[in-house]
Amino acid sequence: MSTTKYIFVTGGVSSSLGKGIIAASLAKLLQARGYRVTIQKLDPYINVDPGTLNPYEHGECYVTDDGAETDLDLGHYERFLNVPTSQANNVTTGRIYQSVIEKERRGEFLGKTVQVVPHITNEIKERIQILGKSGDYDIVITEIGGTVGDIESLPYIESVRQLKWELGNQNCLVIHLTLIPYLSAAGELKTKPTQHSVKTLMESGIQADVLVCRTEHHLSEELRHKLALFCNVNKDAVIESIDASTIYDVPNLMLEEGLDTVTLQKLGLEDSGSPSLTSWNEFVKRYKNPKAHVTIGLIGKYVELQDSYKSILESFIHAGAANEVKVKVESIHSEFLDGSNVASQMKGLDAVLVAPGFGERGIEGKIEAVRYARENKLPFLGICLGMQMAVIEYSRNVLGLKDANSTEMNENTPFPVIDLMEAQKTITEKGGTMRLGAWACELTDNSIVKQVYKTTRIDERHRHRFEYNNAYRDQLEAAGLKTTGINPETNLVEIVEIEDHPWFVGVQYHPEYKSTVANPHPLFVSLVAAALTYCKAK
Ligand code: GLN
Repeated sequence: MSTTKYIFVTGGVSSSLGKGIIAASLAKLLQARGYRVTIQKLDPYINVDPGTLNPYEHGECYVTDDGAETDLDLGHYERFLNVPTSQANNVTTGRIYQSVIEKERRGEFLGKTVQVVPHITNEIKERIQILGKSGDYDIVITEIGGTVGDIESLPYIESVRQLKWELGNQNCLVIHLTLIPYLSAAGELKTKPTQHSVKTLMESGIQADVLVCRTEHHLSEELRHKLALFCNVNKDAVIESIDASTIYDVPNLMLEEGLDTVTLQKLGLEDSGSPSLTSWNEFVKRYKNPKAHVTIGLIGKYVELQDSYKSILESFIHAGAANEVKVKVESIHSEFLDGSNVASQMKGLDAVLVAPGFGERGIEGKIEAVRYARENKLPFLGICLGMQMAVIEYSRNVLGLKDANSTEMNENTPFPVIDLMEAQKTITEKGGTMRLGAWACELTDNSIVKQVYKTTRIDERHRHRFEYNNAYRDQLEAAGLKTTGINPETNLVEIVEIEDHPWFVGVQYHPEYKSTVANPHPLFVSLVAAALTYCKAK
């Protein structure tokens, strides 16, 4: 007998309607009523995980504590709920097939023909219920990637149908997120695409229980009635999701529309009054009422696509709110940055963040940005590749090691100050083979990071193959680039700081993956504070 309740979020009419934000907002409301909630994303692509995807394809690859390379929606789940996710929270079609094929090779299907139904659907149902069966959650929300009617998502939809039948309607709820387009020529909102999308879902045997309708204009009572009647849902299950100025408004908008109450009622869960959103609302208030402004440059090569640096941008929002400061992030394309234009491009900045990345494209621009920050005492945070660029810049321009580089960029560099990790040297496969997930780091006394974290040992998430080459450590330290964070087991350099600089920190790990509304990341909070100090002194 299942005690966990399952909520499925499907999408219709169009992609990019924000299923992840709706799922996270509903989860937030349920969590704020005392329920233990987690969110899972099912992705219909054949890649085993998004780790091998170019950021232009799919935005940022988000990394969990257990080292899973996942969809960026998991970042929203963690930022909203402040509860860590894991590999079990993101499943792709590739992973499902891989697992079924491995079972077939082991002879586990006892001579049967292996088919989409039941073998693939059974695997999907198992993956959905793993989180529920752990006993850690009262409610599991599963977001089905893609749009209803896509060939790729059919096995997922069929699995939802079966689970609804097996577990009963009182334990399963289907929320369908759809678009109500506004035709300006007619001056009207149109319901027909939603009717068709609900019908497509019904052809697969699923009746949507709740409709969440993305819209640019408010839905009239008449329109709600029409949607309810033609889509076969209760009128209070037609939820308006009006465009919001920030994703952090969506939980309150859903609260006003009663998405949480209709959910509880349909799942037979106790409705104990209103959710407690005090600290969430304090955050939103601080975010919307800044007392000062700073401009921070984000130097990267995927800047055309905002989603590529999603967690970094969100971390600035959390850190800005913590400081009651509005952070304007100015994206600067590293590929077009060089010695001749760096000063003019960076002149107006109050701090700079050099972003993570892979490969050679744009790295000379990043090195120029580091140099400018170092020489002009501009607050600087380098993340992963950004930290590696800081080490290269210092080696070249302070130590005088001409053509110092990472062996990722130049295998024949005379000074490989960043080099492939020993454990990586025998690895040939690309997928899931980096140094991933949470690793410990010990902080040195008299460092910025020690002051910032207010502790001596931290755990941060990683995603890299190359590392600071310890053979150069003595020289670099003697010249003023201090090592202030070390992995205690392997001696891997995790953090560097410039002694004679107000705020210059390079980290091999990704602090942005751990910043949440409830716990803004201390490094980002401190960087924004340093930016404010710099700004005031200008
Ligand atoms: N390309 C670098 C490495 O693999 C940095 C990775 C990153 O920035 N995530 O070490």
